[in-house]
Amino acid sequence: MSTQSTTSIQIDSMRAKDLVGALQAVSQRVIKSANGRNVRLVAVSKLKPASDILALYQDPEVRQMHFGENYAQELMEKAEMLPKDVKWHFIGGLQSNKCKPLASTIPNLFCVSSIDSPKKATQLHLGRTTHTNLPPLNIHIQVNTSGESSKSGTTPGAETSELAKHILANCPSLHLLGLMTIGAIARSKETAAGNENEDFVLLKRERERLEEELRSELGDRRLELSMGMSEDFEGAIKMGSDEVRVGSTIFGVRPKKEDFKVKKEVEFGKS
Ligand SMILES: *Cc1c(COP(=O)(O)O)cnc(C)c1O
Repeated sequence: MSTQSTTSIQIDSMRAKDLVGALQAVSQRVIKSANGRNVRLVAVSKLKPASDILALYQDPEVRQMHFGENYAQELMEKAEMLPKDVKWHFIGGLQSNKCKPLASTIPNLFCVSSIDSPKKATQLHLGRTTHTNLPPLNIHIQVNTSGESSKSGTTPGAETSELAKHILANCPSLHLLGLMTIGAIARSKETAAGNENEDFVLLKRERERLEEELRSELGDRRLELSMGMSEDFEGAIKMGSDEVRVGSTIFGVRPKKEDFKVKKEVEFGKS
């Protein structure tokens, strides 16, 4: 790893121990629910300091590589100061004007999971083309399975198909990896209680429909499903999720956005 930019990041060893323990516990639950399938665990580090990420990245037992962020500015700052082989996931609401800078300034951006319009896809594609030596950037189309107006995402059906076709036909520096949903909180509580989550049922159905419709473009490649968070990731995996995005169960409760700093102020020298 590059030590140059990370040497100034102070890691508290007690905090590191807690984080590693929490991540290992989540990992074990993921493995148990996955029952032999490969499921990617994205540690959602939004509003958590860079030192938390570094602690999990450099711990020899966990070596966590995949981290998820929700705010473009915060992700750009963290990516700048953390090792260049971290695999970053952008999972938050994304404005079109942030797409190009995000893709062009972060070569180690692994996946953008919150694409819900052709315009955003085109902007990301244009940003990624500035890195001619990199493979295409992975994309999840965010689908609004719950129909809540507060949630972003495409409507299942024609809108989702059109976006998928646009990416496949017009955005060669993007790779359509799969579909993502957040889902309704009430349904997530149902999942925690052991019931099937309707949002996850819908996302699965949407995946089957798209694979059928895009057979000539996709060949027999499958689209993956990104569904499941702290409250419901085990249920999501049992329903076929390929990726879970877990934040508070690993990092604890998040501060308010206005109280957050990427780099904690060093307290030395204070009297
Ligand atoms: C914050 C966030 C998560 C993680 O949520 P937790 O409940 O803290 O695990 C997952 N996915 C998205 C899109 C998020 O914004």
